[in-house]
Order: sequence, then structure tokens, then C-alpha cells
Amino acid sequence: MMYRIFLLLTLLLAAFITMSCVRNSESAELADPAKFKPRIKVNEKTWRSKLNDEQYEVTRQKGTERAFTGKYWNNHEEGTYTCVVCGVDLFDSKSKFESGTGWPSFYTAKKTNVAELTDQSHGMSRTEVVCSNCGSHLGHVFDDGPKPTGLRYCINSASLDFKKK
Ligand SMILES: [Zn+2]
Repeated sequence: MMYRIFLLLTLLLAAFITMSCVRNSESAELADPAKFKPRIKVNEKTWRSKLNDEQYEVTRQKGTERAFTGKYWNNHEEGTYTCVVCGVDLFDSKSKFESGTGWPSFYTAKKTNVAELTDQSHGMSRTEVVCSNCGSHLGHVFDDGPKPTGLRYCINSASLDFKKK
């Protein structure tokens, strides 16, 4: 009898530890947008002068370009996708895949330069993807992507530049 209780307690403890680990890793990945601080601050004038209207609307005002209209959804060249505002590397062409959505889609990102924030706007619960260097809005990440990560970074072409290999 005592042995059974002991076993049960051990199992409960193991379950509890597993759950708290999962919760910790989730909260580490999904930062609170109010607490997110980009590494550099780009002033309004710079944003305006560097970007065309669509780039400004997407990166600065969290807009979304129309599907199949962007520069890179159908780009198959090898190279690196960079932030259109500050120029840091964000995605590698090796992780780009055909999502059929009309937006450039990647199964992984350069984690040091890409931050993921909870996004409750438009009545949906989503994960916003931003440039962690300058804070530009890039798109969203969903968990219906291909192997090996199962993730789908759905990114606006207007947020990106492309450095051909
Ligand atoms: Zn940036």
C-alpha cells in the first residue's frame, strides 16, 4: 500500500515538473509585446525616408501585404533574407518552402534576430514575428509548417530585402 502511494506521488511530481518546464519554455519564447525592447531605436524620420508606403505600413504599422503581390513569395534564388529597415539577417533561403499562401514562408528563422510576441489583435490569438534588432513587424508564425520544425513563418515580402548568394 505504502509503495503504491509512493509510486503515485512520484508520478504526480514527475508530471508537475514536466508541465512547469513546458510552461517556462513557452513563456520564454512568447514575449509580452509591452515588455519587448528592440536593440536599436529607429526614429520616425528614418522610417519614412527609407521605406516606400507599403514597406512602412507593414513594418511600422503591422500591416499585411496582399497575398501573391510581394517581391519574394515566388523567389527561388539562394541567399539570405534581411530586414528591410536595419539590414540584419533574418531567414535563409534553405528554410524557404512552398506554402501556397502567397507569402514567403520559412520553417525556421535566425533566432538571434527574430523575436516572437503574443498577438491578440483582430480577435485572434497569434504569434507575431518581429525583427529583434529594430522592432519591425515581419509577419506571424504558425505551427502547421513542414519538417523538421513544424513551424511556418509567414512573412511579408515588404519587410524583407534579399542578399543573393
Ligand atoms: Zn530590423
